[in-house]
Amino acid sequence: MHGRVVETSRITPSMVRVVLGGGDLDRFTMVEATDAYVNLAFPPDGAPYGAVFEPAQVRDEHPQETWPARRRYTVRDWDADRQRLTIDFVVHGDTGVAGAWAMSARPGDVLVFEGPSGGYVPEPEAHWLLMVGDESALPAIAASLEAVPAGTTTLVRLLCDGPEHEVDLACAGDVELAWVHRRGDERDESLLAEAVRDLTFPPGPVHAFVHGEADEIRQIRRHLLADRGLTRQDMSCSPYWRRDMTDEAWRKVKRDFVAAMEDDVALTG
Ligand SMILES: Cc1cc2nc3c(=O)[nH]c(=O)nc-3n(C[C@H](O)[C@H](O)[C@H](O)COP(=O)(O)OP(=O)(O)OC[C@H]3O[C@@H](n4cnc5c(N)ncnc54)[C@H](O)[C@@H]3O)c2cc1C
Repeated sequence: MHGRVVETSRITPSMVRVVLGGGDLDRFTMVEATDAYVNLAFPPDGAPYGAVFEPAQVRDEHPQETWPARRRYTVRDWDADRQRLTIDFVVHGDTGVAGAWAMSARPGDVLVFEGPSGGYVPEPEAHWLLMVGDESALPAIAASLEAVPAGTTTLVRLLCDGPEHEVDLACAGDVELAWVHRRGDERDESLLAEAVRDLTFPPGPVHAFVHGEADEIRQIRRHLLADRGLTRQDMSCSPYWRRDMTDEAWRKVKRDFVAAMEDDVALTG
């Protein structure tokens, strides 16, 4: 599938919102998930195929070095009436493919993708909800907060670079939200886990949504299992990206990382 950039806006110094329309978005079918994601496909410069392409066909017909780079991004919003698909991209310097693309995206540019998929919705049976993440998880957490029913206690901890990186978040539930600001040194890697450790948990069963940088997510997951008595079923926990690794490098080791992360469950019994 593909859409064309309708508009872009810088919603924080480190996040660019891209709204897509047109293309074949009339075929887009949203899934019942607030962490719905699409697999974006970015062709390399000089690709021997057009701007609009079928990723599967390119993989069948062209040499691997010309295949598009794949990146997974959350559907921040799907407006079915207007057929507008909104994606919020973290822009993190000049490196990378997707962030760099978003920084220079202009109206009319084509974006090819596959999907959507996804699995999380705020758990209606939970007494309260916990949502934790960095900027990469902010689109999913923002969409999830919009789906929290009135009266549901929801604790939120979000990591960002400073006050100017914070965004307004809408939620019908009873939200207790704190932004955690990086300090620019190696302690940043445990700030989010510390913020979760410092929480006083409300009584009753919780369902947690914890997504972001791999090592940070693993620390938090381990804490929730080992110290807070949560089970795997009580949480949606996914390492979205890995510090100092491109997504290509990360995908090569992600299976082993996730398997080791799973062993944390065994370690805690
Ligand atoms: C299901 C899912 C949903 C996701 N949704 C979103 C989303 O809605 N918005 C979003 O921005 N990201 C999202 N991500 C994360 C995104 O796919 C990765 O951050 C991806 O690596 C970015 O690709 P890139 O081409 O910009 O950088 P890459 O080429 O992959 O990496 C280049 C360098 O940038 C670093 N880097 C990558 N991501 C970040 C980051 N967020 N902050 C700082 N440094 C980074 C890498 O470690 C590497 O050193 C999601 C990931 C998953 C699995």
